[in-house]
Amino acid sequence: MNTIDIDNTYVAHSYGRFPICITGGKGSILYDENGKEYIDFGAGIAVNSFGISDDVWKEAVIEQLNKVQHTSNLYYTEPCAKLAQMLCERTGMQKVFFSNSGAEANECAIKAARRYAFLKYGDGHSTIITLKNSFHGRTITTLAATGQDHFHHEFTPFTEGFVYAEANNIDDVIRLATENKCIAVMIEIVQGEGGVCPLDKEFVQAVRKFTEENDMLLIVDEVQTGNGRSGKLYAYMNYDVTPDIVSTAKGLAGGLPLGATMLGDKVKDVYTPGTHGSTFGGNPVCSAAAISVLKRIDDDLLADVCKKSEYVFSELTGADGVEEVTGMGLMIGIKCTKPAGDVVKACMEKGLLLLTAKDKVRLLPALNIDFETLKNGVAILKETIAE
Ligand SMILES: *Cc1c(COP(=O)(O)O)cnc(C)c1O
Repeated sequence: MNTIDIDNTYVAHSYGRFPICITGGKGSILYDENGKEYIDFGAGIAVNSFGISDDVWKEAVIEQLNKVQHTSNLYYTEPCAKLAQMLCERTGMQKVFFSNSGAEANECAIKAARRYAFLKYGDGHSTIITLKNSFHGRTITTLAATGQDHFHHEFTPFTEGFVYAEANNIDDVIRLATENKCIAVMIEIVQGEGGVCPLDKEFVQAVRKFTEENDMLLIVDEVQTGNGRSGKLYAYMNYDVTPDIVSTAKGLAGGLPLGATMLGDKVKDVYTPGTHGSTFGGNPVCSAAAISVLKRIDDDLLADVCKKSEYVFSELTGADGVEEVTGMGLMIGIKCTKPAGDVVKACMEKGLLLLTAKDKVRLLPALNIDFETLKNGVAILKETIAE
């Protein structure tokens, strides 16, 4: 049997995979097992921040691999400590909890908010407002936090304590907060899985003001938008707000599993020994990878991300067959007259790998994709959408 047959036989069928087996690549070019070449506009769903098999990233990973791969959280390791320091210094957050994924980073954010409110106000103060059309993960609790009904079937009972506000409707947030004993509002700055929809700046600022005035926490889920993706280090930085809690994962370690939950001033001491934990969290190899990634997300790289973003927007806005282009930085959604799935399939045959988000084609290329590769990919996409 070939890889695809073995996988289909033995791997749980929770994914609808494309019939491609990736065997290697370099940067934003991938190869499948037949040697076919692809331009990669997906980057492992915003994970491979510097593409495939990047030399600087590999050096950082291998250097740490040659020292120690794991110690448990009973001991200190330098990469974990240094990474936390780096994240705090670059965001103004005060402390970081490390985990292995976006869902876990959000679980940690939710637990932090619950514990903060419990210690201050006691039992019963636990409800968190999330937004309709949001996505916060696949665990039972983060599914409950996800404001999309179609995720809410078949896995009941869910964790209680989530209510869903209309995105960009501050009155709805205030209504829900008044009806329930709400402790926090949790948002994505750009709803990624929901269709690459950026929230209105005025709305996010109004949420920040309202939560501040009512001792509610603002949690920003930067699992997808974080780590340079939006053109700033974190997407909330585009909106002139300071959250109380920021969760991130996907691109943080450039291809290794690492989640981080950053805790601001109000909640920095919410976790005391024994209140939360993760066996793999803060793993030294993943942390070393993340340090290498963050070091490279400097002003020059971010300016470059914005330039590439502008290029994609200008090429595709108003192009034949394109109804709408949305997003921020190198997180871009394209609503086409044709179904998104058809565009993705046709592009795949022409050697361009894309993603979808709801009814849109979604682009999440590596932050360092070179202009030539970007241009070639956009040309294939444009031509395919227009056909
Ligand atoms: C991908 C994603 C998650 C879930 O991350 P996992 O690593 O798959 O658990 C959570 N929130 C947002 C906004 C995401 O895009």
